[in-house]
Amino acid sequence: MEKNSIIETSLKNLAPDFQKIDEIALKNQNKVLDAFRKNKIALRHMSGSSGYGYEDVGREALSNVFSDAFGAQAGIVTPNLVSGTHALTAVLFGILRPGDTLLSISGKPYDTLTEAITGKNNGSLADFSINYEEIQLLQEGGFDFSAIERRLKKSEVKMAMIQRSRGYSWRKALSISQIGDVCKFIKSVSPLTIVFVDNCYGEFLDVLEPTDAGADIMAGSLIKNPGGGIAPTGGYIVGERSLIGLVAGRITSPSIGMEVGSCASGYLPYFQGFFLAPHVVSQAAKTALLFSSVFAKLGYEAMPKPGEPLNDIVCSVKFNDREKLISFCRAIQRVSPIDSFVTPEPWDMPGYADQVIMAAGCFVQGASIELSCDAPIKPPFIAYFQGGLTFEHGKIAARECLDELLRPK
Ligand SMILES: *Cc1c(COP(=O)(O)O)cnc(C)c1O
Repeated sequence: MEKNSIIETSLKNLAPDFQKIDEIALKNQNKVLDAFRKNKIALRHMSGSSGYGYEDVGREALSNVFSDAFGAQAGIVTPNLVSGTHALTAVLFGILRPGDTLLSISGKPYDTLTEAITGKNNGSLADFSINYEEIQLLQEGGFDFSAIERRLKKSEVKMAMIQRSRGYSWRKALSISQIGDVCKFIKSVSPLTIVFVDNCYGEFLDVLEPTDAGADIMAGSLIKNPGGGIAPTGGYIVGERSLIGLVAGRITSPSIGMEVGSCASGYLPYFQGFFLAPHVVSQAAKTALLFSSVFAKLGYEAMPKPGEPLNDIVCSVKFNDREKLISFCRAIQRVSPIDSFVTPEPWDMPGYADQVIMAAGCFVQGASIELSCDAPIKPPFIAYFQGGLTFEHGKIAARECLDELLRPK
């Protein structure tokens, strides 16, 4: 098939999916706007603060906007969380105590959490005598309810952890209804078990979030979906009030919690980014579907499949070939607004087990709500492609990748 017709046919076939994405974005825009109005957000909330940040009204208002929009009692939203990994780690260390058991029910957690959970003599949970166990997802991508039930009945599990997005594995992201069902199930078997969701890449793909659906606490990164491409750094944690209190005590100190914390440059990009996020996520979702459709037409195995609801912004493509994977990442870099002239190379990235290649020609360093792609260098050479602040950029990028992969070698 010729290049233009691959893109045109894909766009035509995806029209019903795009309509659903637009409907979700509209509902989420309304939800976010309501949270702004309910909290009477004003220009004074954008102002910066210094030192301890006492009477920093922006800090608290920002947290309230997030927790209201995400159906949670309380939240922590701050540039003082340096990344998603930091936010997730703060939840684990804030809540778990020596002798407790953490149970992942969606298989291996995200790569950067491995050292934090099971590392040796590095200050991990294991160093503090916190046990870790995991239950794999079923072949079809659902939760293994009978294994979960058996484990919960055997002995106390303090926290069950769920990763909504696919991470670096060949699976679909989990849906809100799957997460809601498993939350209900866990509470019915073991009412005191805390359910914690790694919501990275999941925000605004559905009209509800895990905390609306029964999760006790969740966390994510501000340089992914909820930062709308505008937030320059940071993380968020929302959930049940007493749990948020424990996590606040870990992030700063048990004696001060989130009563302190300043932000010299102010909160404008955080508020504005969150306001834009439902739309920006819709643009990234459309881009992911376009890429997966284009790659399927080229004969590659790709996810998500048209017609299936999206639960994260990622498109995975199996290249089965090291060089093709690398040339795909390079094409993405070439078509980026920043550093388009740079050639990405595989490298030993901190926190990852394998060498990783990354295309990230982003305004905000490493922001994967912007058009970006990363891939561990190992068979079957899967690229995880995500983001795109505008769907127009997504289309241009799809054309560039077609050019690259259809070019006679
Ligand atoms: C990105 C990501 C993380 C880690 O976030 P960083 O901001 O890169 O530290 C954790 N879990 C999932 C599912 C992610 O996608």
